[in-house]
Amino acid sequence: MNKRARASRKLWKLGISDFNTKYFDFNKDGDLIAKEGNNVYNIRYLAEKFGTSLEILFPYILDERVEDLLDLTSSLIKKLKYQGKFYYHYPMKSNQTKEVVMAMVGEGANIETASFNELFLVKKMLEQETFNQQMHIICNGPKTEKYMNLIDELQHKGLKVIPIIEGPNELKSFQYSRFDVGIRLDMPVKSKAIWNKPIDRFGFTRKELLKMEPFKNLKVLHYRIGSKFEKLGDILASTKYALNVFFKLKEKNRSLDTIDIGGGMPIPFERTRKYPVDKILEKLFELLKNESEKRGVPHPNLICEWGRYMVAPAQITIYKIIDTKKITQKGISAKKWYVIDGSFMNDLIDTWAIEQKWAVAPVSNRFDDKLTEGWISGSSCDSDDIYTGVDGIVPLPDYDYDPNDPFYIVFFDTGAYQDALASHHCMLSSPLKIIAENGHIVIARKRESSEDVGKNFGW
Ligand SMILES: *Cc1c(COP(=O)(O)O)cnc(C)c1O
Repeated sequence: MNKRARASRKLWKLGISDFNTKYFDFNKDGDLIAKEGNNVYNIRYLAEKFGTSLEILFPYILDERVEDLLDLTSSLIKKLKYQGKFYYHYPMKSNQTKEVVMAMVGEGANIETASFNELFLVKKMLEQETFNQQMHIICNGPKTEKYMNLIDELQHKGLKVIPIIEGPNELKSFQYSRFDVGIRLDMPVKSKAIWNKPIDRFGFTRKELLKMEPFKNLKVLHYRIGSKFEKLGDILASTKYALNVFFKLKEKNRSLDTIDIGGGMPIPFERTRKYPVDKILEKLFELLKNESEKRGVPHPNLICEWGRYMVAPAQITIYKIIDTKKITQKGISAKKWYVIDGSFMNDLIDTWAIEQKWAVAPVSNRFDDKLTEGWISGSSCDSDDIYTGVDGIVPLPDYDYDPNDPFYIVFFDTGAYQDALASHHCMLSSPLKIIAENGHIVIARKRESSEDVGKNFGW
């Protein structure tokens, strides 16, 4: 291995399992590469061939992440002699791309849907026989009449579909259902993140739940501590609270045997700290085991619906720098604007919506380049369309725009939510999306033409 490539890899934190970058490296020429077994994808070639802005999805990363989670939980179950089962449910809303969902179910994930339209895709998969019919489906989100009818239809076809009751109207419809149902606990303990609201409308408080008449088939107690819990203590404290409700509810509802912790497992977008999933799950299983043994009840089954954690690391987004500009204002640590041929407010909207941070690196690394403190600007005309880094700067190779010397940058971990939230501010086109698998490239979404974008607005 080339010494300069090695130093570069370290600088940009590639090849590190805990940061989900073990698939990425620089080759001896300084080009960013992605490795899939013996297949190597040269990201600069792909950017030149397909143009930018460009999203690249790597389904094999998903395969491996699901496999790792299922291996980890089955070894913990063995080690702790845990008697309940573990089910991973992939929340489709994190990324509904067909290749993502197929990779998930192919590796043994179950599904969680948030809407009629997502459950409709499950029905489609059922008709095309593209999944194992033993798969379980959890249905969250507001149950419109259409959504309820489809739940009913699929249940009658023999599919294990479990609606989670989130409000009073849904309670009326499902309390005496002859199929399994779940109910959502409104958790008063929430983790600290800017998008976790202290009050939301989902679910029922402990008091409301314990006052309810017995259900016909209550199976699952679902709760959510909010996205991106930062501390192990957060998830344990909220699980303890939920377990208390669970055991009380079980006194009236013998069929209740599953606890669903929802989503929220973070990933190290910022590359500053690690989140040890093995430790978190071990503590969780231990807690479930100890609390149920204290009360002499069987260990509950555990469901988790981690979305961002699973899919974010499986996609990267590449932009070309289309201009650079010195920052001359005083009192700002950044020195140079890098303007990209895409937009944060459109393609990476969480940058703007929830102050999401990203790891950024050069796609073609010149090794000898000095670094500078950059800010990155999207190419909409909006002054909010910027990314200013983790600590107010984005370190990047010092580059001045030169059409004869193109320069690309990559954003890692862009696989979750950004596509479904994407918009068309200033009528910019969405990135082209390609899928890299088994050494082949498939175009999953063509570059939108002006005609395509105009159609969204009735032109
Ligand atoms: C959004 C959502 C998830 C996934 O959340 P992440 O933070 O991406 O893990 C899981 N379950 C439900 C019910 C959700 O609404």
